[in-house]
Amino acid sequence: MRIVIMGPPASGKGSQKPFLTEELNIPQISTGEMFRNEIKKGTSLGKKIEKGMSEGKLVTDELTNEIVKERLKEEDVSKGFILDGYPRTLPQAFYLDQLLKEKQLKLDYVFNLTADEDLLIKRIIGRRTCPQCGRIYNIYFLKPKVANKCDYCGATLVKRKDDTKEVIIERLKAYHEKTEPIINYYQEKAILVNIDGSKAPYDSFLEIKSAIEKSK
Ligand SMILES: [Zn+2]
Repeated sequence: MRIVIMGPPASGKGSQKPFLTEELNIPQISTGEMFRNEIKKGTSLGKKIEKGMSEGKLVTDELTNEIVKERLKEEDVSKGFILDGYPRTLPQAFYLDQLLKEKQLKLDYVFNLTADEDLLIKRIIGRRTCPQCGRIYNIYFLKPKVANKCDYCGATLVKRKDDTKEVIIERLKAYHEKTEPIINYYQEKAILVNIDGSKAPYDSFLEIKSAIEKSK
Protein backbone atom coordinates (compact mmCIF):
# COMPACT_ATOMS: atom_id res chain seq x y z
CA MET A 1 0.00 0.00 0.00
CA ARG A 2 1.31 3.42 -0.98
CA ILE A 3 0.14 6.35 1.09
CA VAL A 4 0.77 10.07 1.37
CA ILE A 5 -0.05 11.75 4.65
CA MET A 6 -0.42 15.51 4.50
CA GLY A 7 -1.74 18.42 6.51
CA PRO A 8 -0.63 21.79 7.89
CA PRO A 9 2.07 22.11 10.58
CA ALA A 10 0.98 20.56 13.92
CA SER A 11 -1.89 18.63 12.33
CA GLY A 12 -0.31 15.46 13.69
CA LYS A 13 1.30 13.79 10.67
CA GLY A 14 4.31 12.57 12.64
CA SER A 15 2.09 11.33 15.49
CA GLN A 16 0.46 8.87 13.11
CA LYS A 17 3.75 7.14 12.44
CA PRO A 18 3.76 4.54 15.28
CA PHE A 19 0.11 3.58 14.61
CA LEU A 20 0.36 3.40 10.83
CA THR A 21 3.69 1.59 10.57
CA GLU A 22 2.48 -1.01 13.07
CA GLU A 23 -0.91 -1.46 11.40
CA LEU A 24 0.33 -1.62 7.81
CA ASN A 25 3.84 -2.95 8.34
CA ILE A 26 5.38 -0.52 5.86
CA PRO A 27 7.86 2.29 6.58
CA GLN A 28 6.85 5.92 7.10
CA ILE A 29 9.27 8.09 5.16
CA SER A 30 9.79 11.65 6.32
CA THR A 31 11.69 13.92 3.94
CA GLY A 32 12.75 16.11 6.88
CA GLU A 33 14.41 13.11 8.50
CA MET A 34 16.05 12.13 5.21
CA PHE A 35 17.52 15.62 4.77
CA ARG A 36 19.04 15.44 8.25
CA ASN A 37 20.43 11.95 7.54
CA GLU A 38 22.07 12.95 4.28
CA ILE A 39 23.70 15.90 6.01
CA LYS A 40 24.92 13.64 8.83
CA LYS A 41 26.33 11.09 6.38
CA GLY A 42 28.14 13.88 4.53
CA THR A 43 27.02 12.73 1.06
CA SER A 44 27.27 15.08 -1.92
CA LEU A 45 23.49 15.42 -1.77
CA GLY A 46 23.76 16.21 1.94
CA LYS A 47 26.29 18.92 1.23
CA LYS A 48 24.00 20.55 -1.33
CA ILE A 49 21.08 20.44 1.10
CA GLU A 50 23.18 21.87 3.92
CA LYS A 51 24.39 24.72 1.74
CA GLY A 52 20.82 25.66 0.78
CA MET A 53 19.62 25.46 4.36
CA SER A 54 22.48 27.58 5.67
CA GLU A 55 21.37 30.26 3.21
CA GLY A 56 17.90 30.05 4.71
CA LYS A 57 16.33 28.52 1.61
CA LEU A 58 13.78 25.76 1.42
CA VAL A 59 15.11 22.56 -0.09
CA THR A 60 14.39 22.80 -3.82
CA ASP A 61 11.92 20.55 -5.63
CA GLU A 62 14.81 19.10 -7.61
CA LEU A 63 16.83 17.99 -4.57
CA THR A 64 13.75 16.77 -2.73
CA ASN A 65 12.65 14.71 -5.73
CA GLU A 66 16.12 13.25 -6.09
CA ILE A 67 16.28 12.16 -2.47
CA VAL A 68 12.82 10.57 -2.62
CA LYS A 69 13.71 8.77 -5.85
CA GLU A 70 16.78 7.24 -4.19
CA ARG A 71 14.85 6.29 -1.08
CA LEU A 72 12.15 4.52 -3.09
CA LYS A 73 14.79 2.23 -4.59
CA GLU A 74 15.43 0.61 -1.23
CA GLU A 75 14.30 -2.89 -0.36
CA ASP A 76 12.04 -2.03 2.59
CA VAL A 77 9.55 -0.10 0.43
CA SER A 78 8.80 -3.04 -1.89
CA LYS A 79 5.47 -3.64 -0.11
CA GLY A 80 4.63 0.03 0.16
CA PHE A 81 5.34 3.21 2.07
CA ILE A 82 3.83 6.16 3.87
CA LEU A 83 5.20 9.50 2.70
CA ASP A 84 5.20 12.29 5.28
CA GLY A 85 6.23 15.81 4.28
CA TYR A 86 6.30 14.94 0.59
CA PRO A 87 5.02 16.00 -1.89
CA ARG A 88 4.99 19.56 -0.60
CA THR A 89 4.46 21.36 -3.90
CA LEU A 90 2.52 20.63 -7.08
CA PRO A 91 5.69 19.96 -9.12
CA GLN A 92 6.70 17.39 -6.48
CA ALA A 93 3.27 15.73 -6.76
CA PHE A 94 3.66 15.48 -10.56
CA TYR A 95 7.14 14.07 -10.16
CA LEU A 96 5.96 11.42 -7.70
CA ASP A 97 3.21 10.31 -10.08
CA GLN A 98 5.70 9.99 -12.90
CA LEU A 99 8.17 8.10 -10.74
CA LEU A 100 5.52 5.61 -9.64
CA LYS A 101 4.19 5.27 -13.17
CA GLU A 102 7.64 4.21 -14.37
CA LYS A 103 7.49 1.42 -11.80
CA GLN A 104 3.88 0.67 -12.84
CA LEU A 105 2.68 1.70 -9.42
CA LYS A 106 0.32 4.34 -8.08
CA LEU A 107 -0.77 5.92 -4.81
CA ASP A 108 -3.62 4.21 -2.99
CA TYR A 109 -4.57 6.99 -0.56
CA VAL A 110 -3.76 10.55 0.34
CA PHE A 111 -4.83 11.23 3.92
CA ASN A 112 -5.27 14.91 4.58
CA LEU A 113 -5.27 15.86 8.26
CA THR A 114 -7.37 18.95 8.91
CA ALA A 115 -7.76 21.19 11.96
CA ASP A 116 -8.74 24.78 12.73
CA GLU A 117 -5.90 27.26 12.57
CA ASP A 118 -6.53 28.38 16.15
CA LEU A 119 -5.92 24.85 17.32
CA LEU A 120 -2.76 24.44 15.21
CA ILE A 121 -1.38 27.71 16.59
CA LYS A 122 -2.13 26.69 20.18
CA ARG A 123 -0.49 23.31 19.65
CA ILE A 124 2.68 25.04 18.55
CA ILE A 125 2.90 28.08 20.78
CA GLY A 126 1.76 26.04 23.81
CA ARG A 127 4.39 23.35 23.31
CA ARG A 128 6.96 22.91 26.09
CA THR A 129 9.69 20.30 26.15
CA CYS A 130 11.64 18.77 29.01
CA PRO A 131 15.34 19.32 28.23
CA GLN A 132 16.26 16.35 30.42
CA CYS A 133 13.95 13.49 29.40
CA GLY A 134 12.46 14.86 26.18
CA ARG A 135 8.82 14.61 27.26
CA ILE A 136 6.48 17.03 25.54
CA TYR A 137 3.80 19.11 27.24
CA ASN A 138 1.36 21.78 26.17
CA ILE A 139 0.22 24.65 28.36
CA TYR A 140 -3.28 24.45 26.82
CA PHE A 141 -3.82 20.73 26.29
CA LEU A 142 -1.31 18.75 28.33
CA LYS A 143 -0.31 20.77 31.36
CA PRO A 144 2.37 19.52 33.75
CA LYS A 145 1.17 19.01 37.34
CA VAL A 146 3.42 21.80 38.58
CA ALA A 147 3.57 24.83 36.30
CA ASN A 148 6.57 24.69 33.96
CA LYS A 149 8.16 21.61 35.61
CA CYS A 150 8.46 18.13 34.13
CA ASP A 151 6.20 15.61 35.92
CA TYR A 152 8.85 12.91 35.65
CA CYS A 153 12.17 14.55 36.37
CA GLY A 154 11.27 17.98 37.72
CA ALA A 155 13.40 19.86 35.17
CA THR A 156 12.24 23.31 34.05
CA LEU A 157 10.44 23.03 30.72
CA VAL A 158 11.65 24.97 27.72
CA LYS A 159 9.97 26.51 24.72
CA ARG A 160 11.61 26.04 21.30
CA LYS A 161 12.89 29.26 19.84
CA ASP A 162 10.91 28.99 16.59
CA ASP A 163 7.63 28.00 18.26
CA THR A 164 6.36 31.56 18.08
CA LYS A 165 3.14 32.90 16.65
CA GLU A 166 5.02 34.82 13.93
CA VAL A 167 6.86 31.72 12.74
CA ILE A 168 3.80 29.50 12.75
CA ILE A 169 1.77 32.07 10.83
CA GLU A 170 4.53 32.18 8.19
CA ARG A 171 4.57 28.39 7.97
CA LEU A 172 0.79 28.26 7.62
CA LYS A 173 0.96 30.86 4.87
CA ALA A 174 3.54 28.80 2.98
CA TYR A 175 1.34 25.76 3.44
CA HIS A 176 -1.70 27.50 1.95
CA GLU A 177 0.27 28.79 -1.01
CA LYS A 178 2.43 25.81 -1.93
CA THR A 179 0.82 22.72 -0.49
CA GLU A 180 -2.93 23.30 -0.62
CA PRO A 181 -3.09 23.14 -4.44
CA ILE A 182 -2.05 19.49 -4.09
CA ILE A 183 -5.25 18.77 -2.19
CA ASN A 184 -7.35 19.63 -5.24
CA TYR A 185 -5.06 17.63 -7.46
CA TYR A 186 -5.51 14.47 -5.40
CA GLN A 187 -9.20 15.14 -4.97
CA GLU A 188 -9.61 15.04 -8.74
CA LYS A 189 -7.81 11.72 -8.76
CA ALA A 190 -10.35 10.52 -6.16
CA ILE A 191 -7.72 9.25 -3.71
CA LEU A 192 -8.00 12.05 -1.15
CA VAL A 193 -9.52 11.27 2.25
CA ASN A 194 -9.97 14.08 4.77
CA ILE A 195 -9.17 13.09 8.35
CA ASP A 196 -10.06 15.08 11.46
CA GLY A 197 -6.66 16.11 12.84
CA SER A 198 -8.13 17.98 15.79
CA LYS A 199 -8.72 14.71 17.64
CA ALA A 200 -6.21 12.84 19.77
CA PRO A 201 -3.68 11.07 17.47
CA TYR A 202 -5.09 7.61 18.11
CA ASP A 203 -8.62 8.74 17.23
CA SER A 204 -7.38 10.26 13.96
CA PHE A 205 -5.65 6.95 13.28
CA LEU A 206 -8.94 5.07 13.76
CA GLU A 207 -10.49 7.27 11.05
CA ILE A 208 -7.66 6.38 8.68
CA LYS A 209 -7.99 2.71 9.52
CA SER A 210 -11.71 2.65 8.87
CA ALA A 211 -11.25 4.46 5.53
CA ILE A 212 -8.80 1.75 4.45
CA GLU A 213 -11.07 -1.06 5.62
CA LYS A 214 -14.13 0.44 3.97
CA SER A 215 -12.54 0.42 0.54
CA LYS A 216 -11.16 -3.13 0.80
ZN1 LIG B 1 11.61 15.40 32.15
